[in-house]
Amino acid sequence: MDYPKDIKEKAQNQIANCNVEGFLSGNGNENAKLMFIGEAPGKNEIITHKPFTGRAGEKLDENLKQINLTREDVYITSTVRSRPYKKIANKSIKDSPNRKPNQKEINAHAILLDYEIKTVNPLIIATLGDTALKRLTGKKFKLTNDHGKLLKTPIYKQNNGKYILTTNSYYIVPLYHPAAVFYNPKLKDIIFNDFDKLNSYLTKLT
Ligand code: URA
Repeated sequence: MDYPKDIKEKAQNQIANCNVEGFLSGNGNENAKLMFIGEAPGKNEIITHKPFTGRAGEKLDENLKQINLTREDVYITSTVRSRPYKKIANKSIKDSPNRKPNQKEINAHAILLDYEIKTVNPLIIATLGDTALKRLTGKKFKLTNDHGKLLKTPIYKQNNGKYILTTNSYYIVPLYHPAAVFYNPKLKDIIFNDFDKLNSYLTKLT
């Protein structure tokens, strides 16, 4: 997606002093019924300029295939659009490991995510992992309790630098981040079932 120049610059300026690398736009079908929101790009994505093109992306592709969807059918983005890295003495940025985005980075890029949600206006937003779920719904839901559920809820958007809840409700389906299976292989079946549920919600709502 091409973001308006002013909001892209504003977002980038706000994290100019953070330990983040590069910039990656959200990608896919801008008329999609289904939008995925991840956490932040990693090393691979900063090189390929496409979201979820590393090991986690392979998992996401498997789950998309499972419900007969391709990347062309969906829109994929992340809470933060630059790669947060752990600063390690004597290591170049390129060699520094990925880390979770901090609140400052999430706040700085909120304007971009809000723009994407407004522009794509998907029927269902599937959050991938805790970071995206929290960004949209605060502390209202918990991934461990609410994964795979079809939630209808207002979401947070930024207004003059502060978060406010939208007046309208959105369909949100919290999913585990595809990389979660690397740490907990038991999640594989749970994620499979959650994608089946997601598919049934899409069928039901269209
Ligand atoms: N994790 C994310 O959240 N987004 C990517 O693009 C890659 C990994």
